[in-house]
Amino acid sequence: MPELPTYCRHYGFDEEGISRRLRLLQLEEDDLPCYDRYREIIAPAVEDVATDFYAHMMRDEQFRAILDQGGYNIDNLRQTQKDYILTLGMDFDTPAYFESRLRIGLVHARVGVPLILYQCAYRLLMQLIIERIDAAIDDAHWRRILRRWVLKVTMLDMSLASETYLQSRLESLEHSLDDMRRISRRLRRRVETDALTRAATRQTLLRHIRQLLQRPEERPFCVAMMDLDHFKAVNDTHGHPVGDRVLVDVVRRIRSAMRDSDLLGRYGGEEFILLLRNTRLETAQRIAERIREHVAASPVRVGGRDIGMSVSIGLVQARKDDSVESLVDRADACLYEAKRQGRNRVVIEDDVAGN
Ligand code: GH3
Ligand code: MG
Ligand code: MG
Repeated sequence: MPELPTYCRHYGFDEEGISRRLRLLQLEEDDLPCYDRYREIIAPAVEDVATDFYAHMMRDEQFRAILDQGGYNIDNLRQTQKDYILTLGMDFDTPAYFESRLRIGLVHARVGVPLILYQCAYRLLMQLIIERIDAAIDDAHWRRILRRWVLKVTMLDMSLASETYLQSRLESLEHSLDDMRRISRRLRRRVETDALTRAATRQTLLRHIRQLLQRPEERPFCVAMMDLDHFKAVNDTHGHPVGDRVLVDVVRRIRSAMRDSDLLGRYGGEEFILLLRNTRLETAQRIAERIREHVAASPVRVGGRDIGMSVSIGLVQARKDDSVESLVDRADACLYEAKRQGRNRVVIEDDVAGN
């Protein structure tokens, strides 16, 4: 079987799809030869039909506005319409016929013709054609057959064009929706991320901690509070911009020592909190030590200057009755103790009873 044309494939008009649509409209093989009779009648009248068609359509204000805005030339449109009228119902059971009719709906959707206007135009065209048939055929039997045929093939065309019209509108809405989703994801990331260090913001971090506290199945988890040692001296000696770059580099070091499942947030200034999910104190302590070592391992190099940095860390495991505040307070107390003991160290809260 030859490959289906693009739109037929896209809209599911394979052999079965085509037969189904024809069955719905009661278009049968017997209807195929009617085209020749129709063509005989319509060919000499096609110029007039197309002219009458646009004369009627131009009475509609909206239609005129669309033509104006799009800069369409009425003579070109009339020519296209004549071709359309002459091929109406010709080999209507073929993929090529379906393809051309599906395309028409897409073109109209792109031009922005409202569907209702479009459907009313079909009715008008049908009427103009039937008037020609009535005038041309004396035999009542044939007249009835040909009228029915015009009704059916026009409805076929309209059904195909409406289908692609609506579908293409839907697709363009889906695209807009995708764009909106992308924008909203980007905005959300921006709001949740600290601009300088790319760590999570304080609010985001605290929200995550709150969520974990509300779910008993998320325990055990730990919180490490970190503060750079003597950071003010860096600013005082080298200036604030250098301090910024040191901060960024220290965060990079912290990141490389933590795990993907850990969340790093900037609690304030040069204070950070690391949230260690599904982690007991012993494991968290190993990770905290690793971070501390990483930061202190070698001086941070900024603009040709080597600046030795270290970090003090207070580490606690969440308790059953913890609130965000109590948990952070305890981590802060441990951090304070680490500073008091001389900095560049991890102090853990050994009293974790109650877990
Ligand atoms: P300690 O070891 O006790 O923590 O000493 P410290 O100097 O780090 O402590 P302190 O809290 O007195 O100073 C923190 C400094 O961090 C002061 C503040 O100017 C600086 N700081 C906070 N946020 C930023 C920032 O975004 N960029 C820069 N360059 N400096 C910052
Ligand atoms: Mg500090
Ligand atoms: Mg501080």
